[in-house]
Amino acid sequence: MAPEVQDGLRKDWDTYFMDIAYMVSTRSRCPRRHVGTVLVQGKKLLGTAYNGAPMGVADCSEDGCMIVEELEMQVEDGVERMIKKQRCIRTIHAEQNLLLFTDRIDREGSTVYVTDQPCWTCANMLANSGVKEVVYHRAYLKDSEKVISLMQVKGIVFRHLSAYAPPVQAGMDVIS
Ligand SMILES: [Zn+2]
Ligand SMILES: [Zn+2]
Repeated sequence: MAPEVQDGLRKDWDTYFMDIAYMVSTRSRCPRRHVGTVLVQGKKLLGTAYNGAPMGVADCSEDGCMIVEELEMQVEDGVERMIKKQRCIRTIHAEQNLLLFTDRIDREGSTVYVTDQPCWTCANMLANSGVKEVVYHRAYLKDSEKVISLMQVKGIVFRHLSAYAPPVQAGMDVIS
């Protein structure tokens, strides 16, 4: 809590940019997951992106999701167990689209706001992209530990906005 008290402006800018990321996420056509992200340099917005199929290719709303089943290990009260999870792989992730549609020079020293904690692949790409800070809202536990240690190794500030509440207009009507 201390950093937010020391820097009163911080929370306002965090809310402002995360709200934009959530509004961007409403453009996603995948009914399973709406992810939005924005690139911020100083206090300037330099890019927005959401998860979606490549341009000109049928998306989830036209051809349905492209579902894969994966086994995922979860630890509950110290007990490991494998659970089956379904994932849509039709879309390019929001963070990857952001990197495709922004310039390296704009990313150097920038901050990325993203509605969801990046997966391992996106975290790897962000780690090599020039950004110096990643701020997310919804946790994604599957890759959390290795993503956090990657960010530490790279010296990238990795912040979770736990007290943040998304704008109502962004809707949360996705299949979980
Ligand atoms: Zn989908
Ligand atoms: Zn990802």
